[in-house]
Amino acid sequence: MKDSHDEVVKEEMYAREGLDEDAEICEIEGLGREYDEDIDDDDIEEVDEDEKLSCAVCGKELHLFTKKKVTKGLYICGDCEEKSAVHRYKKEMRKLSPEEALRIVLKKIEKAENFKITKSIDGFLLIDGPKRLWTVPYAIKSLKKIPRIDPALIFSFDAIQSYELFENGNCMAKGGLGMPPIGGLLFGEDGDGFSANSEDKDICESLQIRVNLRNVSVPKIFINLIFKEIDKEKKAYGSAVLTAQKILSAFENIIRAEEKDEQKTRGAAASPADEIKKYKELLDMGAISPEEYEKKKNELLNM
Ligand SMILES: [Zn+2]
Repeated sequence: MKDSHDEVVKEEMYAREGLDEDAEICEIEGLGREYDEDIDDDDIEEVDEDEKLSCAVCGKELHLFTKKKVTKGLYICGDCEEKSAVHRYKKEMRKLSPEEALRIVLKKIEKAENFKITKSIDGFLLIDGPKRLWTVPYAIKSLKKIPRIDPALIFSFDAIQSYELFENGNCMAKGGLGMPPIGGLLFGEDGDGFSANSEDKDICESLQIRVNLRNVSVPKIFINLIFKEIDKEKKAYGSAVLTAQKILSAFENIIRAEEKDEQKTRGAAASPADEIKKYKELLDMGAISPEEYEKKKNELLNM
């Protein structure tokens, strides 16, 4: 597991860089990509005192210190920035024309507004059940526990390939498409720690879940439950482990449901052929006429 440990540590550092400084407690991130450095130097440029700027998205009036620059000539308000999370992609956005950038901002906001949280796993994993979507907030604002969502990190259920739980860089549990279900044993019989790994230190340095994705531009996403040293005796450790368990079992449920769905789809697709075969047999037996057979066959093929 050494290789994946190194990889995880590296990715996690990226991820932490990706956290907003203004998010007071950044318990969560969802990034396996390098974060754009702040390029705010030119944010307070070209201010025309008389010119009244308004948010390009919602039309709200902008002031010198409330306007958020997306790219040259495109300003939005704080709310629209929060919703679209484009501040996470400053470098990329700045390369775009105002028109292109606005199109992207609108698309992101649409994606964000389409996502309705129907289930939250302790705030670390957010699910829109009816739409079969999920996301991992990249940060949480500590006071009101508001999750900060990046629309680019909203994925469909079928984007999940596999998931692994790492403690101090060691893989403790693994599950995914076509893999056996994760058992409770990995968490220890009493479910309050990874007692299976008795040689482990009494200190937890990191506890994170890595989700490997398919068919999306983001290959993996991390859920960091613990990212600074904590005594395993502490209550916070126990609750992080519990959250990890809940997240893994949520992923298990999603994966099993997806697998069942795929089978169902396959089953449904196979049935017209089976039906036709049945009618062919009836035809060969002379039980139905060739006309009746043709009619049935066409019906089934047009389903
Ligand atoms: Zn706005």
